[in-house]
Amino acid sequence: MQRISAIAALLLTTIAIVWSSTVCLYSQKPVKEQTMNQDTEAISTPGVNDLTIKVVFDNNPYMEGLGTAWGFSALITGTEKTILFDTGGDGSLLLSNMNKLAIEPNGIDVVVLSHIHGDHTGGLNSFLEKNPSVSVYLPESFPNKFKANVQKYGAQVVEVNQPLDICENVYSTGQLGILIKEQSLIIRTKAGLIIITGCAHPGIVKILTAAKDLMKSLDPARDRDDILLVMGGFHLEWATKTKIEKIISAFKQYGVRFVAPCHCTGEKGRYLFEKHFGENYINIGAGKVITLSDLQ
Ligand SMILES: [Zn+2]
Ligand SMILES: [Zn+2]
Repeated sequence: MQRISAIAALLLTTIAIVWSSTVCLYSQKPVKEQTMNQDTEAISTPGVNDLTIKVVFDNNPYMEGLGTAWGFSALITGTEKTILFDTGGDGSLLLSNMNKLAIEPNGIDVVVLSHIHGDHTGGLNSFLEKNPSVSVYLPESFPNKFKANVQKYGAQVVEVNQPLDICENVYSTGQLGILIKEQSLIIRTKAGLIIITGCAHPGIVKILTAAKDLMKSLDPARDRDDILLVMGGFHLEWATKTKIEKIISAFKQYGVRFVAPCHCTGEKGRYLFEKHFGENYINIGAGKVITLSDLQ
């Protein structure tokens, strides 16, 4: 009897050890959990319902009086934090366009840099001279020299590798791509996801896939989220018509409702997107303002 209970105790101990090591194995947080806010309440909160996106810098003209030059920058307001996504290629033009659009640099909390190219980071120094009290989210792969320069202004550097949440309902895809690492922005609105890209070097469809996967991993129910809008540079300047049309059909398969391509999408790309999306194509350039009421 004693022997039987000894065996039983041994068996129980073994089960307990195996069980606890399995739990340990599975409780090792996936990378996204280390970087994402896993507060279930935050996940279940509905997306933003009041959002404005202003194109501050683009090579396409839109609003009379604003300057244009190669590059991209957009301001996002209505979210928990006010975000400047990319800084265009030229600081004085960025600040002058901001001034004309009545954007106060000091009102900005966060700068997100999509990738290292000068047409997206060129305006940063001039901006930091006006407002160094920001967090600058940049791909981890940026050179140390670049990061040190940002810190020199007194700004906080946030290195992005895996996906993370920037503030409530706003996420970075994490740095994607092989040669040129790039992050894109995802905003969860009540009407669906908005994805903003800088140059889409990793491939615009890959970015959409990453964004969808990320939202699904946060909450499986969110797999049903529509992609409400994709805007920014799609990097199709040198793509063939066939390739662009393949990309457009991938957009349709993903249920993308509105598109606002600019910057490095190129004229042919913009023409083809307009042709296929009709009235759900939004013509944008420097000075264009998009609100959620435009996306109905
Ligand atoms: Zn680029
Ligand atoms: Zn670019």
